[in-house]
Formats: sequence, C-alpha cells, structure tokens
Amino acid sequence: MTSEESVLAAVPKQLYIGGKWIDASGGATFEVEDPATGKALCSVADATADDARAALDAAVAAQAGWAATPPNERSEILHRAFLALGEQAEELALLMTLEMGKAVAESKGELAYAAEFFRWFSGEALRLDGYYKTTGNGASRVLVMRQPVGPCYFITPWNFPNAMGTRKIGPAIAAGCTMVVKPAQQTPLSMLALAKLLEECGLPPGVLNVITATGSGAVSEPIISDPRLRKLSFTGSTPVGKKLIAQAADQVLRVSMELGGNAPFLVFADADLDAAVDGAMLAKMRNMGEACTSANRFHVHESVADEFAAKLAARMGALTVGRGTESGTDVGPMIDAAQQDKVAELVDDAVAKGATVVTGGSKGDGEGYFYAPTVLTGVPQDAAVLNEEIFGPVAPIATFSTDEEAIAAANRTEYGLVAYVFTRDLQRAFRVCEALETGMIGLNQGIVSNAGAPFGGVKQSGTGREGGNEGIAEYLDTKYVAINVGS
Ligand code: NAP
Repeated sequence: MTSEESVLAAVPKQLYIGGKWIDASGGATFEVEDPATGKALCSVADATADDARAALDAAVAAQAGWAATPPNERSEILHRAFLALGEQAEELALLMTLEMGKAVAESKGELAYAAEFFRWFSGEALRLDGYYKTTGNGASRVLVMRQPVGPCYFITPWNFPNAMGTRKIGPAIAAGCTMVVKPAQQTPLSMLALAKLLEECGLPPGVLNVITATGSGAVSEPIISDPRLRKLSFTGSTPVGKKLIAQAADQVLRVSMELGGNAPFLVFADADLDAAVDGAMLAKMRNMGEACTSANRFHVHESVADEFAAKLAARMGALTVGRGTESGTDVGPMIDAAQQDKVAELVDDAVAKGATVVTGGSKGDGEGYFYAPTVLTGVPQDAAVLNEEIFGPVAPIATFSTDEEAIAAANRTEYGLVAYVFTRDLQRAFRVCEALETGMIGLNQGIVSNAGAPFGGVKQSGTGREGGNEGIAEYLDTKYVAINVGS
C-alpha cells in the first residue's frame, strides 16, 4: 500500500453520532475528489435530515453530563488532542493535501495552527470564572456565573479543513458545550480524522458529532430550527452566512460568523520594501490565496509601486506549481473547476479594463485545477478583482499618492476582516491602524492568525471572535443572581 492509500484507508468514512460510526440512514455516499487530478479519492456517508436530527439528539443527550464534567478532565482531553495532532501530523497532512490540494508543508502548517487552539483552550477550560460584589447601595450582592451555552452547530469551509474546526471545537469542549459539526463537502476527511483523534483522546460519546453531506441546507435546516440548539457558529462565505443568520433569527440563536474578506495590503513610501514583499508572499500565497485573510488587493505608494511589483513578480513567478503531495511544490491546485474559472474570469476582466499581467495570468494546461501565481499592475478601481474576494494566487496592484487616499481605498468595501500595513513611520502606523475598518491588522507582518489572539471581522466579514481571551466567551452564557443578604 502506498502512503496515500494507507492514510485514505485509515480515515473513517461514516457519520460519527453518539460515539458510534454509522452509515447514513439512506445508505447514500458521495465521492471526495483530489483537486490535483480531478479523480475520486474515496466515498463518505451522505447524511440525511434524519441523520442530522439524530446527531443533534446525541449532542442534547450528552449536554448535561458534559457540562458537569470537571474542567480538569475537559482540559486534559484537549491537551492530549493537542499532542496527538503533533504526533499524527505526517498522516493528517497528507490526508489534507489529498482532499484540499495545498502543499504538504502547508498542510503541516495548518495542523500546527489547528493544534494550538486545543492547547490554548485546554488552558481556558481551567479559567472559567465569575464574580461576586456588593451593589452600589450596599443592600444586596451580585453573583455572576458563566455557564456553557449548550448544544452547538458548527459549519466549516474547505480551505482550512482542520483549523476552522478546532477554533470552534476547542472552546466548546473547554466551556462544556456539546456539538454537531458539518464540514464542507469537498474536505470531509480531515474532520472525520479529527473526530477519530478526539475519540481516541477520551472525548465522551455524544460531545462531538460529525455529519458529512452533499445537501448542506437540507441537513442544516432541521438542526437550526430545533429549539434544543443554542448556538450556531459558521465559517464560510458572506452570502451563506447571511442566509444562516436569517434562519437563526427564528430561535434567537447565539451566532458567531466568520465570513469573507477583501484584505487591503498597504505599502507606504517609507516601507522596508523587502520586508513588504516577504509579508506580501505570506499574506497572498498562504493556502494558494484561498484564505479569508488573503491579501486581496495591493495599494502601493506611487513612488515605490514599480519596484514593489517587480520584486513581488520575481518571487511569485519563481514558485513551483504542482500536486501538493510532490516534494518541491509551493502552490497546489484551486479547490475545484468553479474556483479556477472564477480566478480566470477576474484576471481576464482586469486585463480587459487595462491591467497588465507582469507574471502568470493563465490556468494550468493539464489535469487538475491549477492557476499560475499572477501579478497584475495598473489595475483600475472598477476591475472586479479589486472589489470581490479572489480566493486564488492573484495579486492586483493599484497605486495611491496620499495616506488619505490609501485609507479610503482600503475601506472601500463591504468587508472588514483584515488589513496589512507596511510603514516604518510609527505615527503613520498608528494613524492608519486606527482608521482602518477591519477586525485585524498585520502591521509590518503578513500573517495575523494566532490561537492566542481574537480572530474575526467587522462589517460583512462577520461577528464574534475565535481564539484569544475573547474566544471562550462565545461559548458561555452569563447568569446573574441578585442576593438579599438581609440587614
Ligand atoms: P461556503 O460556500 O459558504 O461554504 C462553507 C460551508 O457552508 C460549507 O460547509 C458548506 O457546505 C456550507 N453551506 C453552504 N450553503 C449552506 C446552506 N445553505 N446551509 C448550511 N450550510 C451551507 O464557503 P466556502 O467556499 O466553503 O469557503 C470559502 C469562504 O469562507 C470564503 O468566503 C472565505 O473568506 C470564508 N472563510 C472565512 C474565514 C473567517 O474566519 N472569516 C475563514 C475561512 C474561510 P457545502 O460544502 O456542502 O457547500
């Protein structure tokens, strides 16, 4: 057996409900595809609405026991899972690359990031607290306690198949919440493998339930409309997020929404250009540009734009595109044909409107959904590539002449997830950071993702924070007891 065959053989292909691995109630399955070849890797269970209800039943049944489980135990399970993710990184990275496409080194990077959420929240499980105080008039006391929200439903995307799960699963376990998870249909295997790992680390039956499905709306609706559900956390596109918020309104569910982005990358005239190019490579090319945090558009001061573009194009053009499992590959395929077509259309639209292709600008010509790392200059403001989330390895560069112009261009979007700012002027750095309408900023660095920091957006990039001191609060309700202590 090759190593690819053995990791595929080892991963469960069934639904994980109430601690049991079971087939979908109708017996249906669907194929998982390798985006580097377009060929099927294996098939997994295709859940029905009845399976979704059964998964929620299991989460509800486990809730009271899990909430009563000592924090030490919840913390230790998370810590074991943190260690196990490190121990199994080789196999899990290969599995992720097979279904998602990114280079194995990047899959390992995602697994390390994913594991950090388990480490972080294993600590947070021990720090759940409340407070006690005397009211202002001295007549009574205030006792504030934090309690688990209750059964949660998590919907995750394909671009970070493990990390987008651990950012939700970690705090839910720490807080004492049970959950149903539905991964994206393109990448169910990594989540199934994660469920198996958590099972092996001692997570009790019913705390985590995983359903894989092609009918995402059909399995989600019965869960979201069930009055026993208490929270919905979604990572994915803004249009789907809006639909889910509308569905969640009926039950006044607590929601966390990690949605799309359109990150501006600002390079000021005083920036260290080599550092800016290093940052640009990280911010643009992490995950082949298929990241919500991906630098979507580069606004560069007119005095340094040509030099920045030439340096970035040299680095982008030198990247090796290929199957993520092959050593030496930097850039894997897009997730599917639709994403590859979308990237091509955005580039073609920009070129039709006057942009110049400095490097790249074309699809791969063999099998798989490849697109060449691309740098565009002279991109006009009305080009779709500056206004829509690209989700591909394309760096469009536009110029500005004043700070005010740069800030206005950066904020000219309905999104507000992250921005990147490169400048050596401290006062400018703070002025610009204050003026940007985003939840996160990379100041002279091209990556913001960190389990110990609050990840999330403003505007139509979402609501709620994952990780950091804020992350656990999304899974806790505050209860206050007014106490009459007599006189
Ligand atoms: P997507 O199409 O919105 O799908 C995300 C998840 O939602 C998938 O599991 C999908 O299932 C499910 N889904 C789709 N329609 C649904 C419905 N009507 N009801 C319930 N679930 C539904 O997004 P994507 O293409 O997978 O991911 C890319 C997007 O995610 C980008 O916009 C990116 O910016 C965003 N993202 C945001 C963050 C963040 O933290 N802010 C992080 C990563 C990604 P199926 O697979 O079955 O369609």
